[in-house]
Amino acid sequence: MNAPNDDVILRVEDLTIRYEKGRSIWGTPRYGQVVHGVSFSVKRGETFGLVGESGSGKSTIGKAILRQIPVLGGTIGFDGETVTDWPEGTTPLAYRRAVQVVFQSPRLSLNARMLARDTVAEAVHFHLGLQGRELDERVDRLFDDVGLARHLGDRYPDELSGGQQQRVAIARALACDPRLVICDEAVSALDVSTQAQVIALLRRLQEERGLSYVFISHDLGVVRNLCHQVGVLQHGRFTDIGLTEDIFERPRSDYTRALLDAIPRFPGRTAA
Ligand code: ADP
Ligand code: MG
Repeated sequence: MNAPNDDVILRVEDLTIRYEKGRSIWGTPRYGQVVHGVSFSVKRGETFGLVGESGSGKSTIGKAILRQIPVLGGTIGFDGETVTDWPEGTTPLAYRRAVQVVFQSPRLSLNARMLARDTVAEAVHFHLGLQGRELDERVDRLFDDVGLARHLGDRYPDELSGGQQQRVAIARALACDPRLVICDEAVSALDVSTQAQVIALLRRLQEERGLSYVFISHDLGVVRNLCHQVGVLQHGRFTDIGLTEDIFERPRSDYTRALLDAIPRFPGRTAA
């Protein structure tokens, strides 16, 4: 598996995942395989885009990296560790800190009854054990880092815009100084101008912190804008994988070409 000093932070090899799809009348489980031998790697400080239509298996791969679901076959390596060797339900705290996630809907992922400030403070307290002034200072800094005015900490999620809510979710994810963040459709629910701002934020955080992202999206325009490498997923298999430019300029598969043809134009890289 990849050594800690390797420039690859996450290496997924031949990943296979199935879900139980009910049982036969004899009680034997039936399975539906949704990920079929997927391999890719994410470099330190870079973004790997997982793109594909709804149901192609993107979130399933994200969940496997986060160890929320079991894998049937293949390996996931992170920073010198073989994650898939760990028995189910025994994810080291260090890994849970190192790999964080930001979802599409901050309204669902944020606690509606918790002030924005407390949401971030709770994560800082849990992961770093900080209290009192140290905790306050850390939370202030996280608000600054994600471009959220500190006074907005006194609001509930419903009193924040979609972009502000997503900044709270990003601040919470950053509370434990992760090295890899899985962004699962993290900008998909935002309007175009807010989307551009959050993408610029993700890019700035990447530059400042050397963060790596697995960026899951059904939107090829967004993926082109942010990702260094891209894998195009269809029915749980890559139809194309490689450097973003190559995929967009010279797609190999008909499926990828069809996806590209479906978008009228690509926005260029936006400034951070
Ligand atoms: P995507 O994120 O690309 O839209 P998903 O990874 O969520 O796709 O889903 C891939 C496939 O797995 C879909 O066919 C979906 O119906 C199926 N699936 C997802 N979650 C489950 C589950 N918990 N149990 C059974 N099937 C699931
Ligand atoms: Mg999904």
